[in-house]
Amino acid sequence: MIAGVCDALIEVGGYAVAAIRLSTGDPATTEPTRTLRVIAGHPSLLWSELEHLQEPALSLPLTCDGDDLGLLRVAHISGPFDETERETLSTIAADLSFTIATLRARLAHRQLDDQIRQLSRALDSSSNGVMITSSTQLDHPIVYVNPAFERITGYDAAEVVGQSGRFLVRDDLAQKGLNEIRASLREHREGHTVLRNYRKDGQLFWNELSIAPVRDESGHVTTHFVSIINDVTERIAYEQQLEYHATHDVLTGLANRNLLSDRIEQAILLARHHEKLVGVLLLDLDRFKLINDGFGHVPADNLLKAVAGRLARCVRDTDTVARLGGDEFVVVLGGVEDLDSVASISAKIMRELSLPLNVEGKEVYVTTSIGIAMFPRDGDHGEALLRNADVAMYRVKEHGRNNYRFYTPEMSHMALDRLDMEGNLRRALERDEITVFYQPIVSLKTGAIIGAEALARWKHPRIGMIHPPEFIPLAEETGLIIPLGERILRLVCTQLAAWRQAGMPPLQVALNISARQFRQDDLPGLVRRTLDEAGLEGSALEFELTESMVMHDVENAIAMLRELKQQGVALSLDDFGTGYSSLAYLKRFPIDALKIDRSFVRDIDSEPDDAAIARAVIAMAHSLDLRVIAEGVENDTQLGLLRQYGCDDFQGFLFSRPIPAEEFALLLQSGRCLPPPGEKT
Ligand code: C2E
Ligand code: MG
Ligand code: MG
Repeated sequence: MIAGVCDALIEVGGYAVAAIRLSTGDPATTEPTRTLRVIAGHPSLLWSELEHLQEPALSLPLTCDGDDLGLLRVAHISGPFDETERETLSTIAADLSFTIATLRARLAHRQLDDQIRQLSRALDSSSNGVMITSSTQLDHPIVYVNPAFERITGYDAAEVVGQSGRFLVRDDLAQKGLNEIRASLREHREGHTVLRNYRKDGQLFWNELSIAPVRDESGHVTTHFVSIINDVTERIAYEQQLEYHATHDVLTGLANRNLLSDRIEQAILLARHHEKLVGVLLLDLDRFKLINDGFGHVPADNLLKAVAGRLARCVRDTDTVARLGGDEFVVVLGGVEDLDSVASISAKIMRELSLPLNVEGKEVYVTTSIGIAMFPRDGDHGEALLRNADVAMYRVKEHGRNNYRFYTPEMSHMALDRLDMEGNLRRALERDEITVFYQPIVSLKTGAIIGAEALARWKHPRIGMIHPPEFIPLAEETGLIIPLGERILRLVCTQLAAWRQAGMPPLQVALNISARQFRQDDLPGLVRRTLDEAGLEGSALEFELTESMVMHDVENAIAMLRELKQQGVALSLDDFGTGYSSLAYLKRFPIDALKIDRSFVRDIDSEPDDAAIARAVIAMAHSLDLRVIAEGVENDTQLGLLRQYGCDDFQGFLFSRPIPAEEFALLLQSGRCLPPPGEKT
C-alpha cells in the first residue's frame, strides 16, 4: 500500500522522488527503533541522502491523534512547490496517516483478541481454580471464576460473581493461613498458603492458594487479585496419615513411642513448673504370647485393642496412654501429688484389665505387670524413666506377675540393659552360667516328694541370679532357646544319672519346653540321644508344654507328642487356665497331666470363681484320666481346698521354693513329707 502511494505520486503526480518512512517505534525514544522506507523514483538513494537532493523537496509528517506515524518526502523536478500542491500533498499525507492508523489499530485489536482468546482457553482448561477479584471495590468482589473453580467448590460462576471470596472459609476463621492472605491483600503483594475451605455441600477441602496482585498500566495501582486455587485435599490427607503413623500406634490408635517421648517431656516441664510429680507406668500383659500363639494374630490384636480402650478409660484425658509394641503399654500420669495416687490408678488399671475379655467367643482373662518410675525421683527425662519403669516391671514379672511395683534404685544394679542381654546370654552359655534349680512336686495323697520341676537359673557373675522371665523370652526371640534348652536337658539328665548313682530313688523331673523348641526339627531324636548318653529311660522325664504350643499346629503336635511318648517320656500341660482351657480339645493329645496355673490357685481361697474353676478343672481332668498338679501353693488354705477338690499333686513355696540340686538332694534324703491334713507345715 505504501509503495503504491509512492509509485502513484511519481507516475500520476510527476514527482522525481517520493519516499515514505514509517515509524513503528516506541514513543519514548525520539529515534524510531525500526523504520520502513519506501523510495520511489531513485530506489538506489538512501533515506539520509534525500535531505541533500538538488531538487526542491518537501517533508510532510504523518501523524494521527498526535501519534508520530512517519514521514513523507516528495521531491520536485522543476521549480518550488506551490500552495495548491502543498495543500494536496498535505491532504494525501493526512489520508495516508489516517489509513495507517486505522490499519494499525485493527491489527492491534486482532492481536489482543487472539491473546484474550488464548488466555481464556487456558483458564477454561486449567485444572486449578482461578478466581479474579476486584481490589478497587470494598470487600473485593469476585469478577471472574473459571470452570475448575466451579468444579472444585461446587459453586456456579453466577452464584459467586459479585460476592466476596470469604464464603470459601465459612466460619472456620481460626486459621493461620488467613493472616498471610490478609497481609497480601493489604500490602498488594503475592501470597501463598494452605487453607481449609468448604465446598458448596459443606465438605472440607484443602486449598493451596496463591494470590497475586494485578496492576494497571501505570504499574502503581492494584486493580485486581488473581487467586489460583489448588485442591490438595488428597495430598494433605496422605500427609496427615503419614504424620499419624509417625506418632500413633496404628492398631490401637494410642500414642506410639515417638509421641510418648514428647508427652513425657511435656509432663515433666509442667510438673517442674507446678512442683508436681509425673508417674510413668510400663505395663506388660502377662503371658500374652500364649494368646497370640494360641488364637492367632487377629483375635490377639482385637484383645490388644480392647486393652487399649480399657487403659484409656482408667486415666484422665490429659494423661497419655501409649503402646510401645507387642503387649507393652505405657501410661503417663502428669501433675501427680503423691505416690499413693499413682498406686491407686495402677490398682484401678489392674482391676479393669482383669475383667474377662471376649476373644473368639471365649472368655479370656488377662493380667498385667506394671513397673512404675516417678519424676523427679527416678529420673529427669523420658528415657531414664522408661528404663527404670522397665526394671521395676521385670521385678514384678519375676515375683509372679499380675502386680505393680515402684522402681527402687536397688533394682537397677540388678537389671541388665536388654540390649546387652543377648550378648550376655550367649556368653552365659559358653561359660556355663546357666544352671537348674529343682522345685519339689509333692503328692497330696502321700505327702511325699514324687518329683521335681527343673527351672532354669542364670548365675550372672556380676548381677547374681537371674530368673527365667528375664531371659527366656529373649532366648526365644533370638533362637538361643535351642542351645539353652539342649543345655538344660543335658544338665537335668546328668543330674538324674548322678542321683541314681548315689543311690537315690528314681524320680521324675519335669522340664519346660518352649514353643520354639517344640518346633525344632528333631526334638524326639535329641531327647533319645541325651537320655541314652546318661543311661536313663524316658520315664525319668516329663515335658511341660503349653496349650498354645500344641494348638498352633495340631497335627504336627500330635505326631511329635506320640513320638516323645513312645520313648516313655511323660507329658503335661503347663499353666492350664491361661490359654484355651478347652478340656474337650485336649482329649486329642496324648498328655498325662494338667498343671493348674498359679493365678487360679492364688485366689482359690478368696475368689469363689477361681475356686469353682479349679474344682471343675480337676473333676473334668480326672474324667479324662489326667493327673492334676496345682502350681504356686503358698498357704495351708489353698492346700486344704485343693485336697478337698481331689487335686493329685502340688508344688509351691509352701513346701519348698526351687532350690539348687545339692539342696534338693539333701531335702530328699531328709525324707521330709507333707504333714497329714490338719497339721501345720
Ligand atoms: P512355670 O513353668 O509355670 O514355673 C513355675 C514358676 O512358678 C517358677 O518360676 C516357680 O519359681 C514359680 N513358683 C513355684 N511355686 C511358687 C509359689 O508358691 N509362689 C510363687 N509366687 N511362685 C511360685 P520361675 O522359675 O521364675 O520360672 C518362670 C517360668 O519360666 C516358668 O513358669 C517357665 O514357663 C519358664 N521356665 C523356667 N525354666 C525354664 C526352662 O528351662 N525352659 C523353658 N523353656 N522355660 C522355663
Ligand atoms: Mg512349668
Ligand atoms: Mg506353670
